Amino acid sequence: MKKIAVLGSTGSIGTQTLEVVRENGDIQVTGLAAGKNIELLERQIREFSPSLAVVWEEERAKELAVRVADLPVRVLSGMEGLVELAVMPEAELLVTAIVGMIGIRPTISAIEAGKDIALANKETLVTAGHLIMPLAEKCGVRILPVDSEHSAIFQALTGEAGNRVSKLLITASGGPFRGRDRAFLEHVQVEDALKHPNWAMGQKITIDSATLVNKGLEVMEAKWLFGVDLDRIQVVVQPKSIIHSMVEFADGAVMAQMGTPDMKLPIQYALYYPERRHLPGERLDFWRLGQITFEKPDMETFRGLPLAMEAARAGGSMPTVFNAANEMAVAAFLKRKINFLDIYEMIADAMASHRKVADPDLEQILAAEQETYEHIRRRHAAD
Ligand code: NDP
Repeated sequence: MKKIAVLGSTGSIGTQTLEVVRENGDIQVTGLAAGKNIELLERQIREFSPSLAVVWEEERAKELAVRVADLPVRVLSGMEGLVELAVMPEAELLVTAIVGMIGIRPTISAIEAGKDIALANKETLVTAGHLIMPLAEKCGVRILPVDSEHSAIFQALTGEAGNRVSKLLITASGGPFRGRDRAFLEHVQVEDALKHPNWAMGQKITIDSATLVNKGLEVMEAKWLFGVDLDRIQVVVQPKSIIHSMVEFADGAVMAQMGTPDMKLPIQYALYYPERRHLPGERLDFWRLGQITFEKPDMETFRGLPLAMEAARAGGSMPTVFNAANEMAVAAFLKRKINFLDIYEMIADAMASHRKVADPDLEQILAAEQETYEHIRRRHAAD
């Protein structure tokens, strides 16, 4: 029986991971971690019987420990707890479904402890890919992508070892504002930005899809995961999200992975790789689908993508600044403190003010994150 621990079990990817576990019935969940949602975490503990549960907030962890006192489960909190969950000897694979750079330390610990990683937490590779990928290779662990685009590329590359890739084609839906101009974006509200046309996801990533920041983060993630230069990664808008991404090989052949937009497919593929299991749900009906269309992304209006490319080309600590500034900007937008277009301004300003560290270690990455937060707080207070 496969044994897994899940970081971020109460979120969008975390709950869908547990649905896949429930539907298959042959995976043991050894550990679960969440930020603060102890109500859902308690239900998950009662259903999946992990031996360790972690809650980021200490007070909430204490509350949870009282609620589950009748069960043989240890409850821990904070970064120490997350790292203990990441290295627990009972688990062979860690699902990183946590949101934000908080996922880096536990992921590094899990790799050092020899665990395979089912990676949803894209911030880990965006900011620390230069540390994570060589470490994974050295420790002989697999990084199995959960992000649908990266899973699609991973699937397209299966059986192609040794064949030269000429291009990765990352598809994008274009988000809820595709086809709109800057004048329109000036007035959009939080509710409009949260209406993703095809995917149901957590709030942060849904806003990132609307700004195209998410696509930029995915380009950076792909560069590390697949070892492909930035100038050989192309973003293609494909509004229906049927093609999840493609690989062009040296002979011009393009392999695409298609399917209905359902995150359970890439999650299940990562959990059982290389086996394909039955997955209940809708199938593509090409007669009904009729056509699949493609467009070039509008980089003038949706500056999230060109700003990400600029950060990726600069490299070093710049992707961390891009990511941290975006996190703060999205949080401010969700609280209605700034408008949609200000997200781009905040990112551009943080990047312009940063003095890049060329080859940052983990401490320098985390310092760049904190510096960015402080820079934005100072600017905001001055406004
Ligand atoms: P959600 O916001 O839905 O869930 C985030 C999870 O992380 C929750 O379980 C949350 O706990 C937990 N969490 C947050 N902070 C902490 C903390 N300090 N310590 C422990 N747990 C914490 O996010 P998503 O599931 O949408 O996304 C997760 C990651 O996967 C992101 O990196 C995202 O970019 C990536 N991703 C998501 C996709 C999707 O379809 N949703 C697709 C591809 C990638 P709590 O609920 O208690 O706050």
